Amino acid sequence: AQKSPKPLVAGNWKMNGTTAALKEARLLAGMLEDVRLRCEVMICPPATLITSIKSVVKGAKIKLGGQDCHWYAHGAHTGDISSEMLKDAGCSAVIVGHSERRADHGETDETVRLKAEAAYRADLTAIICIGETLEERKAGRTLEVIARQLKGSLPMNAVPTNTVVAYEPVWAIGTGLTPTVEQVAEVHASIRAKTDPALRILYGGSVKPANAVELMSVANVNGALVGGASLKAADFIGIIKAYT
Ligand code: PGA
Repeated sequence: AQKSPKPLVAGNWKMNGTTAALKEARLLAGMLEDVRLRCEVMICPPATLITSIKSVVKGAKIKLGGQDCHWYAHGAHTGDISSEMLKDAGCSAVIVGHSERRADHGETDETVRLKAEAAYRADLTAIICIGETLEERKAGRTLEVIARQLKGSLPMNAVPTNTVVAYEPVWAIGTGLTPTVEQVAEVHASIRAKTDPALRILYGGSVKPANAVELMSVANVNGALVGGASLKAADFIGIIKAYT
């Protein structure tokens, strides 16, 4: 049987955190000191905090990721950040195609794919987010939407060493609602069927310490992308511990 990939638990801080939040990163680093984990741990802070978090968690096994990048390396693009800049700041990955980016900034499968290619160019892992809306789920179109996003957002050269897919039902993000284990299993199996057995497929959307073990036990779930519950070290460690 194929060995399943090493899981990843990544915290997406979104547009949260000032220097006061460095305390949480420091706390998390301390909490991770004496636990033996079967997963990798990552924090994706706002860009303003990447370098300071990097110095705070020094020595701890915490990876850093960006929350988005432009597809160009540099130039006249006010307000944007390139994958090369994230790499230089100490990131090993970048989230692309989060539903909030797709909704707030009109990102399409095509722009998400360009951003994933930019991640590869800078030697960053692309964490590519896909997921259906509630309307799409109610219409019975979930698997069709997932297949379309997967096909459109993943570059041709996506492989398990440069890519992680995160399944995040839009209706589960920040709502406290989660799909049933059967629904998660169905979508993850459909993604697995179209990708490599070694590719990590994360689940994201209202992952909390109380539901982490159940969600992380579902077949083809290889970790979590965590929003709200990643902001406090005490909550995030409760999720990470699903992999002790
Ligand atoms: P949430 O967000 O954990 O706050 O639901 C998840 C995400 O958007 O990645």
